[in-house]
Amino acid sequence: EIKNVNEKYFGSYGSFGIHREMISDKARTDAYRGALLNNPCLINKATVLDVGCGTGILSLFAAQGGASKVISVEASEKMATVATQISRDNGLLSEGNMKDDEKHSGVISVVQCMIEELDKYIYIPQNSVDVLVSEWMGYCLLYESMLSSVIYARDRWLKPDGAILPDTATIFGAGFGRGGTSIPFWENVYGFDMSCIGKEVTEDASHVPIIDVIDSQEIITESTAIHSFDLATMTVDDMDFTASFELKLKKDPSADDVAATTSSCYGVVVWFDTSFTSRFCKEKPINLTTSPYSPRTHWSQTILTFQEPIAMTSSHTMISSTGAVGTEECPAVTIRSRISIVRSSAHRSIDISLEILGI
Ligand code: SAH
Repeated sequence: EIKNVNEKYFGSYGSFGIHREMISDKARTDAYRGALLNNPCLINKATVLDVGCGTGILSLFAAQGGASKVISVEASEKMATVATQISRDNGLLSEGNMKDDEKHSGVISVVQCMIEELDKYIYIPQNSVDVLVSEWMGYCLLYESMLSSVIYARDRWLKPDGAILPDTATIFGAGFGRGGTSIPFWENVYGFDMSCIGKEVTEDASHVPIIDVIDSQEIITESTAIHSFDLATMTVDDMDFTASFELKLKKDPSADDVAATTSSCYGVVVWFDTSFTSRFCKEKPINLTTSPYSPRTHWSQTILTFQEPIAMTSSHTMISSTGAVGTEECPAVTIRSRISIVRSSAHRSIDISLEILGI
């Protein structure tokens, strides 16, 4: 079963469309480019390992940034072939058997294999790599679970004081209102009431997350950091986590202080940042965000919908002693919630569960 899942996974990376989508994601590609080109103290003369090189774009940046050796590993046969060709076409491929009088050889060596099997194809001394770079992030950060391969490579080949790029990742969340669901859309379709579809879609969405961009105007609570990963030190088991967090209504700058704002919260939108912090990128630290408050990326956001909306208020004064909390008579000031994200037994996917602990 794992073999089939991997074949499908690496097969999907053999089509160029997905690479075009990633490369065209300017926030993504500029972040890596900035890290590799604007931190010469780190990259110049370094040995770089690119885990999952795809077209080789990150390896090309590393070579451009002055790396003395770039090992580019890619499991997809198609992409490894293409990455080799592209490195050669740009004069950056390391041509091992070139004669001295021929044109200058480059620094990139492409190896086609899973990183887990690299030893079978090329000898790299243990803990000899200065910089490990990889773009491993999936939807909701952890979907596809490629991170475990990066951690494996880190532990085996990165020097103890070597750099991992990026080196931190943080998952964030915020509550969204009715406009963040598809209910309003279906209520009035060319004047017809199709709200039964909206109900069904929202009901489905309480079981399966939706990957889509959410308009920041639909966000009704403050944003909160849910969980952070230190990629330099975390283990594979740390990929599964449970975290508690609280949602508070966003202050409406136009509302006066006395009147309480009330809103219904329909669910939690989740996104992530990854950072090239000053720990390794001393000259130019960079943050890559997939926040709904920033220009969209190909990761969009992950939208988790509650089974029932929860009424919220900005002020305690609204709370009466009767009525169930979180309903219209008794809205919540905060929603206390717990999320757990674990790798699924069906490989490369994740299971997300979101609980309301109280309000
Ligand atoms: N670095 C490229 C591609 C990123 S997509 C870029 O930034 O544009 C991730 C790539 O990693 C895919 O091409 C996928 O085939 C490859 N990959 C994923 N897991 C891998 C593994 N365990 N070993 C080798 N390659 C892997």
